[in-house]
Amino acid sequence: VSLDRTVRKGARGTVFLVGAGPGNPELLTVRAHALVTSARIVAHDELVSEAILALVPQGAELIRVGRRRGTSPEAPAMHPAVLARALDGLDVVRLKGGDPLVFGRGGEEAEQLDALGIPFEIVPGVSAALGAAASTGIPLTHRDAASSVTFATGHGRHDPTGSPGGGTIVFYMGLATLRETARALIVEGRDAHTPVAVISHATLSTERTVIATLDAIADAVESASLEAPAIVIVGDVVARRVVPSAAPDVARPVTRSRRVP
Ligand code: SAH
Repeated sequence: VSLDRTVRKGARGTVFLVGAGPGNPELLTVRAHALVTSARIVAHDELVSEAILALVPQGAELIRVGRRRGTSPEAPAMHPAVLARALDGLDVVRLKGGDPLVFGRGGEEAEQLDALGIPFEIVPGVSAALGAAASTGIPLTHRDAASSVTFATGHGRHDPTGSPGGGTIVFYMGLATLRETARALIVEGRDAHTPVAVISHATLSTERTVIATLDAIADAVESASLEAPAIVIVGDVVARRVVPSAAPDVARPVTRSRRVP
């Protein structure tokens, strides 16, 4: 990775669409780490943790792009400041929570960069579902419990749940709509006793997990006052949870689980 060619007259800068993972800096890929620690310009959204932003070199320009909640779906995906820098010939690291291509609008941004003739690269990141699964010890598939896993959104413009058979469903952005989602799943035929885990701040020191059955999860999460960002895992795999032993490494989160009978 070379970011040396900072300014070249007439040439366009490269935009690196980089997955920052779920928050813990140790979960950055080697490539993401190299890009972040050598960047001159970093544009990041709210999901990117302070611990990761602390790796950006002193003096680099930090552009807070924000998740821009409420922006109209017609608004261009890529922030104008990022495009302007790239068109000026500057390389930009566009840091996104999790993976850029999982509910990260990375696809739309790539289309836009391509249309403008701006060179770009995509660096994958650990998506929240995978980070949350690993840190809580919940397998997303299991030979005896689930042969598929679906990544869905809690406030999608399309089908609300789209659950195939008895597979695992992971809901992103699903905290605010948890009650409706749970109800819809039961109406669609999911057993009301299906276990559900809601993991807030996965992989960070503030991680918290609430586990309850589908018909009780919304109340349990509400009384625990879980905060966003949180991910919702629905399926029998939740009952297969094996809590990872607390490692001595301080960078590892201590998982405080609240089991709801
Ligand atoms: N591109 C991201 C997802 C962005 S959508 C990825 O691949 O992970 C934002 C949603 O991601 C949040 O509403 C939440 O559901 C989930 N999320 C991101 N970081 C999280 C974290 N540390 N813990 C729990 N959920 C997280």
